[in-house]
Amino acid sequence: MDFPENEKQSLNFIEQIIEEDLKNNNNEGRIHLRFPPEPNGYLHIGHAKSICLNFGLANHYNGLCNLRFDDTNPEKEDVEYVESIMEDIQWLGFEWDQEAYYASDYFDQLYDWAVKLIKDGKAYVDEQAQSLISEQRGVPTRPGINSPYRDRPIEENLRLFEGMKNGEFETGAMILRAKIDMSSPNMHMRDPIMYRILHQDHHRSGDKWCIYPMYDYAHGQSDFIEGITHSVCTLEFEIHRPLYDWFLDQIVEGNYRPRQIEFARLNLSYTVMSKRKLLQLVEENLVNGWDDPRMPTISGLRRRGYTPESIRRFAERIGVAKRDNVIDVGLLEFSVREHLNEIAPRVFAVLNPVKVIITNYPEGQSEEVELINNPEDPEGGSRIVPFSREIYIERDDFMEDPPKKFFRMGPGREVRLKGAYIVKCEDYKKDENGAITEIYCTADMDSKSGGAGASRKVKGTLHWVSAQHAIDAEVRVYDRLFLDEDPAGHKDKDFKEFMNPESLKVLPACKLEPSLADVKAGDSFQFQRLGYFCVDKESSADALVFNRTVPLRDSWSKRK
Ligand code: ATP
Ligand code: MG
Repeated sequence: MDFPENEKQSLNFIEQIIEEDLKNNNNEGRIHLRFPPEPNGYLHIGHAKSICLNFGLANHYNGLCNLRFDDTNPEKEDVEYVESIMEDIQWLGFEWDQEAYYASDYFDQLYDWAVKLIKDGKAYVDEQAQSLISEQRGVPTRPGINSPYRDRPIEENLRLFEGMKNGEFETGAMILRAKIDMSSPNMHMRDPIMYRILHQDHHRSGDKWCIYPMYDYAHGQSDFIEGITHSVCTLEFEIHRPLYDWFLDQIVEGNYRPRQIEFARLNLSYTVMSKRKLLQLVEENLVNGWDDPRMPTISGLRRRGYTPESIRRFAERIGVAKRDNVIDVGLLEFSVREHLNEIAPRVFAVLNPVKVIITNYPEGQSEEVELINNPEDPEGGSRIVPFSREIYIERDDFMEDPPKKFFRMGPGREVRLKGAYIVKCEDYKKDENGAITEIYCTADMDSKSGGAGASRKVKGTLHWVSAQHAIDAEVRVYDRLFLDEDPAGHKDKDFKEFMNPESLKVLPACKLEPSLADVKAGDSFQFQRLGYFCVDKESSADALVFNRTVPLRDSWSKRK
């Protein structure tokens, strides 16, 4: 896959709208956006796109961006989610205006507005069964049927709605509906539900309420209350816009209205992104929690070794579209590879070690070789790595009977040990199962890198770790969680059928160069020739654990 350097050239359609509004001095030049998650799950990479867009626009136009929790559904919401959402936004590098906002803080105002709508004859209490109400709504091509309660006297509606609030009725006994138009071609305008009874505590308002506003009755007004100028949301809300406008037109005066702008949500190949599906993976223990490094959640990506910068770059690269599309997950992987290439120190790590003994190197002796930390970073400096008679190399860097084009180690062949000597394989030993246990080499002692004989060239260069100095680590090699490009897109098959059985391989006995003794969780490195790896949060000084972020190259585009 090729990724063009298509860095930003022109304004996207949202920026065009904002600049037009600024030119016309709409809202006295104020720019105020918001990111409105529902705290019913952890944020994923799609939310990251929305966060980068909203907070990014606010930063760019010297405006503000609120964080508002649209917490109208206490059955599915939790403070754990509120906290993770705040952590993720801050980690991405953004700051919201003031304290976080909550739709639940507007419940009193929303209630008062509902009473006003009832008094104006624009809302009514419906006591029919939910199934009947759904049936009466009809289909877009056929008008709905009016509820027999539609013309209930205002006084009765007021009394019942108050009773709903005061807990006089069972969950589901009745609802409050807006009285709009049962024959509207827009189904959302067919007397939509405003309030339902729910005898359920709320993570913020406790047991104060037993009726809760529907998202559609709360969202537009919340934007209005906060003085939002541009309410950026995903395309599925386009059809809700007339309803949001209708509510505001009935309850407030003046010209100020939040302006809703819709963009296409991010879809990624080889990924599922709905919170409901992600919750299923967590609850069924198909992954190890919301921050499993294979999850497309922001916390999972963080634990995997993604940097905030790489995610922001990704969001910038994909831009905003008005039509739904699917982005190749390879582009996300490219963005982190690109950033880690710039910042990650290079180190030697052997994941599947086999021992090599350099028979002409004196026993008990060791020496220091100097290696560049990062050729991409002029200030990256260098480090000292010890070399000695016994080293580890990767098991698959040796073949007993290698083909001609195999430029690594094989009987009678020479390779360079990076930063050290050219060695020649003289012999090897196997166990009773045929597995190689030891390889014997001789070193050309005049060939040391940086020394007089350094110019002698051989085809292959291997990384290595001195056995006596090596530190042990567990390395978790992560791969994509799904084998199918669109796991959720099969009508007759569950998305979980497409899970990659090899998405996690644990390598328990890896050998690392000793400079890695003092790493801390989140540190990233390039294990030379292998990929980018970061220290897992479960890692400790006694038991180091690394996660593979990405391999050095995209191996998936070749598989297709
Ligand atoms: P999901 O559909 O994954 O369950 P959601 O839309 O229910 O997510 P919300 O908490 O309502 O999640 O989303 C908060 C904000 O993030 C909304 O403005 C929503 O439009 C935006 N958002 C959600 N998913 C995506 C996505 N895939 N791409 C871009 N923005 C998204
Ligand atoms: Mg939503």
